[in-house]
Amino acid sequence: MRQVIIIGSGPAGYTAAIYAARANLEPLVVASSVEAGGELMNTTEVENFPGFPEGIQGPELMDKMREQAEKFGAEVLYDDVVELDLDGAVKKVTLGSGAVHEASAVIFATGSAYRKLGLEGEERLSGRGVSWCATCDGFFFRERTIAVVGGGDSAMEEATFLTRFASKVYIIHRKDTLRASKIMQERAFADPKIEFIWNAEIADILGEDAVSGVVLRSTEDGTTRELPLDGLFVAIGNDPRTHLVHGKLELAPEGTIKVDGRSSRTTVPGVFAAGDVIDPTYRQAVTAAGSGTVAALDAEHFLAALAQAEQKADAAVA
Ligand SMILES: Cc1cc2nc3c(=O)[nH]c(=O)nc-3n(C[C@H](O)[C@H](O)[C@H](O)COP(=O)(O)OP(=O)(O)OC[C@H]3O[C@@H](n4cnc5c(N)ncnc54)[C@H](O)[C@@H]3O)c2cc1C
Repeated sequence: MRQVIIIGSGPAGYTAAIYAARANLEPLVVASSVEAGGELMNTTEVENFPGFPEGIQGPELMDKMREQAEKFGAEVLYDDVVELDLDGAVKKVTLGSGAVHEASAVIFATGSAYRKLGLEGEERLSGRGVSWCATCDGFFFRERTIAVVGGGDSAMEEATFLTRFASKVYIIHRKDTLRASKIMQERAFADPKIEFIWNAEIADILGEDAVSGVVLRSTEDGTTRELPLDGLFVAIGNDPRTHLVHGKLELAPEGTIKVDGRSSRTTVPGVFAAGDVIDPTYRQAVTAAGSGTVAALDAEHFLAALAQAEQKADAAVA
């Protein structure tokens, strides 16, 4: 039986693995069969991860994190967790291959997924003008014309933030009213760089190596027109990857896994959660990495207390 199994191989999972491995816990990381490395595998330049003043490509950063975890003894398995039994002292983790691994502690770091428009150009031009994160990528669009898709608070927030860089920001929304709170709407309406395009959806994203525009389709009469753009920010929501723990761990109202205060402790003893799967607000690589650290340290304390309790029980029997 393992001491700790880490589910997920994004910044949270790999950082938890680095700390757990350096604490001699010999963690097993279940990295996923096709999405190992997490969200940063989908991007190009990362300029805000500390320690890389020239920036670093997302996949290279994740390779370095994996290498660092393996160097200290973490074992990485490229498989998916398909079932979890978290009751009792022995946690059971079932993989797609059918193998069942057991551990005293589990760190759940499965991240979250930005909702996609579902268009071909979206994946192809991800990191080349298509983005889901203004904080991450706004800086690349100085004096450019960009658009934000969405009608909620996050779309308004992203658009308002992006006006710091862009010369023009369109907000494209399917309806003629917004879901966003009144204060966020007012802020966007008052911004001279923001222009709303109502009753329109994106039918296509244009560009070979970088975004050059979009095809807009009217939701009223179906007519289409092209809008030249340098960038497109998709802000139509984000879903924490929690389906494996539904009914097993308590969730927060935002849909993230509920943890105890600033810790990573979930509602089940021995189960810890870290990264974007517990974070409805910040969702950055460095915050996920910090959260992975917290989870590894919490798991370490939990396992130490468990070992101490077992020693006491053994001594009492002897
Ligand atoms: C296109 C893009 C660009 C970004 N750019 C930046 C940036 O420049 N700077 C920045 O700080 N942040 C950036 N972000 C945000 C950043 O990527 C995330 O905040 C960060 O990756 C979250 O880390 P995480 O470890 O919590 O989750 P993730 O990185 O999402 O990793 C979750 C991991 O869990 C795995 N997993 C899920 N389910 C299972 C399962 N059942 N079994 C096994 N494994 C599973 C996934 O495969 C994945 O490996 C960007 C995000 C996107 C989408």
